[in-house]
Amino acid sequence: MSGNRVRILNVVGARPNFVKIAPVMAAYRRTGAIEPVLVHTGQHRGGAMSDVFFRDLGIPEPDVTLPPPVTAPAGAVPSAAVPSAAVPAGGHAARTAGVMVAFERVALEHRPDAVLVVGDVDSTLACGLVAAKLRIPLAHVEAGLRSGDRTMPEEINRVVTDALSDLLFCTEQAAVDNLAREGIGADRVFLVGNVMADTLLGHRERAGASRVLETLGLTPRAYAVLTLHRPSNVDDPAALGRILDALERISADLPVVAPLHPRFRAALTASGLDRRLKAADGLLPIDPLGYVDFLKLMNDAKVVLTDSGGVQEETTILGVPCLTLRENTERPVTIHVGTNRLAGTDAVRIVAAFRDVPAEPPARRTPFLWDGRSADRIVAILAEKLRRPDGPP
Ligand code: UDP
Repeated sequence: MSGNRVRILNVVGARPNFVKIAPVMAAYRRTGAIEPVLVHTGQHRGGAMSDVFFRDLGIPEPDVTLPPPVTAPAGAVPSAAVPSAAVPAGGHAARTAGVMVAFERVALEHRPDAVLVVGDVDSTLACGLVAAKLRIPLAHVEAGLRSGDRTMPEEINRVVTDALSDLLFCTEQAAVDNLAREGIGADRVFLVGNVMADTLLGHRERAGASRVLETLGLTPRAYAVLTLHRPSNVDDPAALGRILDALERISADLPVVAPLHPRFRAALTASGLDRRLKAADGLLPIDPLGYVDFLKLMNDAKVVLTDSGGVQEETTILGVPCLTLRENTERPVTIHVGTNRLAGTDAVRIVAAFRDVPAEPPARRTPFLWDGRSADRIVAILAEKLRRPDGPP
């Protein structure tokens, strides 16, 4: 404990979490009222999916990193050197349980005044459950988003985390309305805007200087970007095949650059569909990019095709047309105010939506409170709500 400052354990695990926590960590530094402890659960590890985000976004080194997986993917022999508190790899249950076991020890050791989780990944749910069971106040950034689709693992994580949370920070009014419908008291719910906007606006200038287009041989507004990672799109070879049908047709008109999420890459290899990706001249599969280069790539694209939640929001802020390859979205403001359109997962529909993309980017409207100051609002509310009786005013 340092003085009477409020101690908050902040949890990150996977790529989208890093983008969300960066401005919150910066806002803590600005106020000084809170002592933040950063915990990395290791759901995503390594250079392209984790390290580059800490560097690009100036996130401090994690204070705690949970140990690496005990059980390696099928067929591999686990190393005897792996510590016993390690987080198992594998399915949702193994991952969630492993993070819970390891995080409970961290929470007991650090005795925080609150735990803050972001987004909707398995680590969000796991650490939320631990906090709730230990009766540590739980704050959720990006609360209330609902696709209404329980076949999405993230939807389960959202519903359960919100049910357990004491302070719920929402990015858009629809999320506030969803929480009210679920009976969550309005005194715990705060519309604060979107920390993804804080990060984007804070790094736009640096992205302007990125040389990624030159490196990839691309011309502004003369290419499309593709990202895919949702299990419903990549894990089922038939569904992935339908999306590839569309991409083959689209890439005959416009080059499509595709930074491959590890899950997408693994699914392509396992299904043998990587052959189709390599065979199409206009399709350019690449490794995942760091945040700044990816921001530049999105900003200068003619259109972005994606099933990512964060990318729907970022294209809305940038005013770049976005075709979401899903039947629903938990982020309706990106459709009502922004540039997002649900194109589904059927090849004919995707190609038709692509042909409808306007030649000029549409007029840009920014959703309410997506102004770059959301993290400051969150930290001010945390400081106020968690203030100790004997703490600084
Ligand atoms: N992103 C990135 N490099 C890439 C692809 C995505 O930096 O090659 C960023 C993107 O700008 C966004 C975040 O990763 O901030 C989205 O992560 P992801 O799509 O994995 O998760 P989701 O948003 O769907 O939860």
